[in-house]
Amino acid sequence: MLNDTHRHKGLRKKLVDELRRKGIANEEILEAINRVPRHLFMDSGFIDHAYVDKAFPIAAGQTISQPYTVAFQTSLLEVKRGDKILEIGTGSGYQAAVLLELGARVYTIERQKELFMSVQKFLPKIGYHPQFFFGDGYLGKENYGPFDKILITAAAPYIPDELLKQLKTNGIFVAPVGGQNAQKMLKIIKKGETDFETTECGDFVFVPMLKGTDGQ
Ligand code: SAH
Repeated sequence: MLNDTHRHKGLRKKLVDELRRKGIANEEILEAINRVPRHLFMDSGFIDHAYVDKAFPIAAGQTISQPYTVAFQTSLLEVKRGDKILEIGTGSGYQAAVLLELGARVYTIERQKELFMSVQKFLPKIGYHPQFFFGDGYLGKENYGPFDKILITAAAPYIPDELLKQLKTNGIFVAPVGGQNAQKMLKIIKKGETDFETTECGDFVFVPMLKGTDGQ
């Protein structure tokens, strides 16, 4: 049942306080997190874990990112109302929902057929309407670009050139880049066609960004 009870709202408020204590200062982002019913993104048996600040397994061996990580990546993106944002790795759809709460237009790509089918059905039911794509995020979505912001929510072994091409000038690209066990969060600002300014923003661990697609 798609139910958001008083108890869930109370737990969510506590989670938001925890994120604020951990250094997330942007009140708009905290308010967005306060509005998204994260427990509905998980199987019903795991609802008690929904408002703990941890990543959690979802279908197809994938994860819903840790709330702190979602808040942190969202902060780096400097989201403005109306921003056109490309997300690689739809997963549960939670990160996409947070971006939509901030007034962004969200284009999101997932390579796992099973996840893609279920998230595409679920998110609109609770009022979130990104554009969903099944495909390989390494290729981006050229026909829908260029984008104001691009976000990768899986561990990228390198920064795909194709994605940088689909970013507007002065656009922001955020991605965890590195090997399987640990990645550096990178924020890249596109100053010009071949001019990029990169900042390293700490260590994170994501599931891998894989090539091609899976499932049918
Ligand atoms: N943003 C998600 C995080 C999901 S975990 C959330 O909020 O829940 C990362 C997701 O990236 C997984 O679902 C995985 O299947 C997907 N993924 C990995 N490589 C990909 C690729 N090349 N293209 C698109 N999605 C990819």
